Parts: sequence; structure tokens; C-alpha cells
Amino acid sequence: MTLILVAEDEPRISSFVKRGLEAAGYSTDVVADGTEALDRALAGGVDLLLLDVGLPGMDGFEVLRQLRGQGSPLPVIMLTARSSTRDTVDGLNAGANDYVPKPFKFDELLARVRSRLRENVSTGSVEIVYSDIRLDVLARRASVDQREIDLSAREFALAEQFLRHPGQVLSREQLLSNVWGLDFDPGSNIVDVYVRYLRAKFGTERITTVRGAGYRWE
Ligand code: CA
Repeated sequence: MTLILVAEDEPRISSFVKRGLEAAGYSTDVVADGTEALDRALAGGVDLLLLDVGLPGMDGFEVLRQLRGQGSPLPVIMLTARSSTRDTVDGLNAGANDYVPKPFKFDELLARVRSRLRENVSTGSVEIVYSDIRLDVLARRASVDQREIDLSAREFALAEQFLRHPGQVLSREQLLSNVWGLDFDPGSNIVDVYVRYLRAKFGTERITTVRGAGYRWE
């Protein structure tokens, strides 16, 4: 059975989320403290983490940073009252897969949970090889001509999107929704920023800007 870890210190919210998830057929485990959330997530057996930002012990950003720092690929959806773009970007840079601002409707949360879990089982092949580039999706390692390239979680996810569709034009909106998984402000330049990071690491000539349409991995 799919186990969802809920890290939330407000009992009213955690019990509402727990009841809803269990009614939808998931098992849940609730913790109300950041340190406990990290320990529980690292102990394994968890399929997805719903992580509140404001937690006692250790805040959600720190839990996430430590989790990713220890190489955990666990899907994480952050729950927060803070809805500024700045906090969203910080959370996503720290390695969150998605973001649900409070207050939320349970159906909204459930849709995000389902989509994250689905993505995780349907990632397809575990190794993508394209010309001299190799991405090991499970180990999160990338190499060019057998030389290892150090990528952040987000850079890796973006490179993976491109390399699953080489030679095709991918729009900013497609990349935003597949890599960042949310309805980001369409004026956001986060995709352009990350394309720049990838060009710096893989070589400028690999990614072509297609004016008015998006980007293409050559
Ligand atoms: Ca809280």
C-alpha cells in the first residue's frame, strides 16, 4: 500500500489531510516535528512526503535540504501559508517536486498527490543515453563522454526532459509543468535561468533557443 508521510504541526490540518488520504485509499503516517519528519523519511518505506514549511524542530526547507543532501529521491510536496514567488522558488530549488499553498481544498491536494505518485512509477527506462550523454535516472548521475557532470535535482530533471525528447521543441510552459509541476507565473524566467545553467554545464551549443516557441536539445 502506498504510504504518505504527513509532516504538519497543526492537528486540525493533519487530521483533515489524514482522513482524506485514507478515504482515497492511502496509508498515512503523521509527524508534527521537522526532525522527526526527516528521520522518518530517511528510514524508508515512504512513497511521498507532504511537508509543511513552518514546523517546530527544523523548518520544512531545512528538512528538504537535508533529505536531498543525503540523496533521497522521495517525492515531496510542500504545504505552506507563504505564497510569495520567492518562497516557492526557494522551496523548489531546495528540491521540492510541487507546492500547495494554504489554504487548499482537499481535492486540489489529492490531485497533486496522485500526479506525483503516477510520475514516480512511470518514469520509464532508468538510463537515458543520447550521443555522448548518459543520465542514470535512479542514481541521478549525469556524464558527458564518461566525464561526470554535477547537477542539482532541478537541473537533472530539466536535462531529463530534454533528453527524453531530443530534437523536439519544448515550450517553456511544457518544461515548467513537467519539471516544476505547477502553474507558475507565466512571466517567470525560471526555465531560462535553468537552461543557462545546463548550457554552462553541457555546452552552449547543445540547447537551441527557438524564438517564440521554446528550446530544443540538439
Ligand atoms: Ca505549521
